[in-house]
Amino acid sequence: RFLSFEGIDGSGKSTQARLLASALRDLGAEVVLTREPGGSPGAEEIRRLVLEGDPDRWSAETELLLFTAARRDHLEKTIRPALARGAVVITDRFADSSRMYQGISRGDLAATVDALHALMIGVEPDLTLLIDIDPETGLSRAVARQGVEQRFEDMGLDLQRKMRGGFLSLAAAHPARFRVIDGARPPEAVAADVLATARAHLGL
Ligand code: C5P
Repeated sequence: RFLSFEGIDGSGKSTQARLLASALRDLGAEVVLTREPGGSPGAEEIRRLVLEGDPDRWSAETELLLFTAARRDHLEKTIRPALARGAVVITDRFADSSRMYQGISRGDLAATVDALHALMIGVEPDLTLLIDIDPETGLSRAVARQGVEQRFEDMGLDLQRKMRGGFLSLAAAHPARFRVIDGARPPEAVAADVLATARAHLGL
């Protein structure tokens, strides 16, 4: 079973992914918790290439190719082997993040993102938990956090608003795969909601 968390920066999805992984392990499931960009040694190297250093080093198109290469490696080296042995895979971001970040944040590459996805990736999670939060709250959380990437701070509120709208539209377009979780509540309340949703999906 393949689960993803999505949401804008500061939505709390990484915390929720971690909490869900530990709750499912307590229920006896084998869980592989992973993330993007990254999630395999090669993809983590690509993450550093893209997220660290000069934000203008890569064009939007090159960045999309790098993220797609990272996702392909993540799929080959981490996700597929885990699914093949029956583990539950929980990834903090997957292709929906590219649909938002590479698709709409630096020009209109949405059609190219979809075409590359069809060619090189071709799979979607069974269940995507969209942790929804208003960008003001997300931004203040993300900026308060240590080590947040400068490029995100540069991105600002307008873009985060656009992303939130984009994620919600994507969820509305794929209701069978997405569940929208209200992320503005205290983390424990969000986690309870996430766990109930995942258990219902997994039959655990
Ligand atoms: O989820 P996480 O905070 O690790 O993501 C780090 C940054 O990577 C995000 O703030 C976003 O700017 C960037 N990102 C991206 N394209 C993706 C996934 C993440 O630009 N597909």
